[in-house]
Amino acid sequence: MTLATTDPSPSMTDAFYASVQQAPNGERIRACLQCGMCSGVCPFGYLMDYTPSRIIAALRSGIFDDVMRNDSVWMCIACYACTQVCPSGIPLTERLMARAKEELLFAGSAPSELQIALENSQRYGNALGQSPRKRADWAKGLTPPVPVLGKDKKQTQALWFVGDYASFHPRVQAASRAFARILHALKVEFAILGVDEHSDGDSQRLAGERVLFEALAKKNGAAFRKYQFAEIITTDPHTYNALKNVYPLLGVAYPVRHYTQFLVEKLDLLKPLLKTALSAKVAFHDPCYLGRANGVYDEPRALLTAIPGVELVEMEHNRKTSLCCGGGGGGMWLETFLWEKAHTRTSEWRVREAIETGANILAVACPYEPPRFEDATKTIKEAAGLRVRDVAELLAESMGV
Ligand code: SF4
Ligand code: SF4
Repeated sequence: MTLATTDPSPSMTDAFYASVQQAPNGERIRACLQCGMCSGVCPFGYLMDYTPSRIIAALRSGIFDDVMRNDSVWMCIACYACTQVCPSGIPLTERLMARAKEELLFAGSAPSELQIALENSQRYGNALGQSPRKRADWAKGLTPPVPVLGKDKKQTQALWFVGDYASFHPRVQAASRAFARILHALKVEFAILGVDEHSDGDSQRLAGERVLFEALAKKNGAAFRKYQFAEIITTDPHTYNALKNVYPLLGVAYPVRHYTQFLVEKLDLLKPLLKTALSAKVAFHDPCYLGRANGVYDEPRALLTAIPGVELVEMEHNRKTSLCCGGGGGGMWLETFLWEKAHTRTSEWRVREAIETGANILAVACPYEPPRFEDATKTIKEAAGLRVRDVAELLAESMGV
């Protein structure tokens, strides 16, 4: 669809091309073969007027203004599939698509629902628009309690960065409580930041709001510096991606692990606690920001297969070829826009794949996924027997905690 609101300058093509090339590996854009693999693998490539390869062709032809007059860039859900397959190693997700979104934001051409999430992130420090004072409310009533840095202590072994959805979304809070119980059962010394935690900003960055991302990273960096801890663990692959790969470029560098990596190293302690057999056929969904973006595939599977009674099955698209849930790069905040464009959801494609395996549990390890996949199960008749559970919830169930 053509937008009427942008007024691109005559030099936009040159300026945009130059800015993409300034990023790490950005110069590889000149090596594009126009093979079309990026467009072919893109979940919404069949609907986008401007896929990555077509944007590059437009840049080379000096008609980038046309890209900026089109809203199809907002169909990019930052799934890294194009980056994964590009034979020229071009940072398509991180650079080309995020920069194109940034230009559209500058021009005021972002869907309103995305603008609301970005404004919430700026005003409240979380995209959901929740009061920052309620960030630790999910842990209320837990026994033993979840320690909060600044309130209960000043130092800890493991700082758990909980993240926006795991802190505020009612469905995902259940997974957070399960992980807290596991940490207590394993006698891990940990604490959370509570009110001092802000959105990691990674999805805002990949939705084109780099300045906001940097402001959020700065606030989190300041919070980290107030306390002493040996490492950060996080239940959110988007947080993991930001803290591991992008925060260090801004001078905020700490060792960080996703919770599945953290727990796998404690399997010797964990296994004897996994006492209840679950008798379940489990399909694991690889989150884009844990798998494709960071190469973590084995750890969640090792945890699942350690649970007595679990039979692990693989969906047709798994590991590197995993299908995106649709929530990345601002997709969480573009539900209406994407639905109006596609009249389908990638989360529904994924649930159908899980059904085809005969699984009765779709296991996830990212806070974006339980609500997305559970919504999808409600729209698919055959999904009536499929439950969506975080890996932490399955572990906690087997442990009886
Ligand atoms: S996959 Fe890479 S080389 Fe091929 S068209 Fe896309 S950007 Fe160009
Ligand atoms: S990151 Fe994913 S959604 Fe975005 S252009 Fe690449 S393949 Fe398409």
